[in-house]
Amino acid sequence: MKRVVVAPGDGIGPEVIPPALDVLKFFHPDWEYTPVYLGYECWKRTGDALSDKTLETLRKADLILFGAITTPPDPKYHSVVLRIRKELDLYANLRPVFGEGFDILIVRENTEGLYSGIEWKEKDRACTLRVVSEAGSRRIAKFASACANRRRRHLTIGNKANVMKSDAYFLEICMEEAEKTGISIDKKYIDALVLDVLQHPSRYDVIVTTNIFGDILSDAAAFLEGGLGMLPSANIGRHQALFEPVHGSAPDITGKGIANPIAAIRCVSLLLKYVGERPLAIEVERAIQKTIAAGIKTPDLGGTATTDEVGREILKNLALSQ
Ligand code: ATP
Ligand code: MG
Repeated sequence: MKRVVVAPGDGIGPEVIPPALDVLKFFHPDWEYTPVYLGYECWKRTGDALSDKTLETLRKADLILFGAITTPPDPKYHSVVLRIRKELDLYANLRPVFGEGFDILIVRENTEGLYSGIEWKEKDRACTLRVVSEAGSRRIAKFASACANRRRRHLTIGNKANVMKSDAYFLEICMEEAEKTGISIDKKYIDALVLDVLQHPSRYDVIVTTNIFGDILSDAAAFLEGGLGMLPSANIGRHQALFEPVHGSAPDITGKGIANPIAAIRCVSLLLKYVGERPLAIEVERAIQKTIAAGIKTPDLGGTATTDEVGREILKNLALSQ
């Protein structure tokens, strides 16, 4: 039994999460599912984007399925996702990127680096502290090495150690941890790496890097796939994990019923892998492929199907494969 907390959030979140939840419940009808209300709409209505009570519910979850959150440019509003990552210490951000002839896993450090949140403004300059700690680097390095060890046993460490001491330290610790597992290791400067991943994606297996570099690299790598509506991500902590589509709340298409639910459904596939149910995860992936091949696609993929039609077809394909 797992405790799953479901946070649809804002915009298209409440449109793409129900079909994803249907897929999860198809395999696990007996797990405990708890919906929570959070995000910008929640902030507008209650003055609190993430209440203490909701945070407590999230803390008790084994698994969190997250839709999307609108982050308004209001300085009084603090990012809910960043706060959850910090509070639950979800230190590893995973983004799988795969397609014809390539299968890459980007592992991004999720808690420190340039997004440490330690920053201040002086009279004529603003500073952000780039914190790279031994503990923070070691745990992400261990995590990425373990992933590589289970996959094709190749780890690329994206870095800028030639320019920054903080990255030289990150690189050193990653090398130490990776060497313990005996996987093959490759160091690459992040700027050259972004280009090479786009030109030669088949050369890569697992890529580990610091927070902001991982953020940029994974968005760039989205170019290799079918667009934002297709990409899932996971945020992994010591005891729990949160799964969310890479896309945001997409206000331009909200309420039209045409949001692509595949990114959210792939989140369920990642979740199943996380709990050790890889065969089920593969079934979900197959059901998605079959649906696309049958031409049942939302407009972002060039089709005319609705969110619900895609969701129903994926469920039907899952049922057929049983
Ligand atoms: P946010 O501020 O919440 O990130 P955004 O305007 O940046 O919102 P995104 O969700 O990041 O919007 O997506 C950018 C564009 O990609 C959207 O305008 C939308 O048209 C498209 N898009 C994103 N997700 C999907 C999806 N699931 N299905 C179809 N189109 C999508
Ligand atoms: Mg966005």
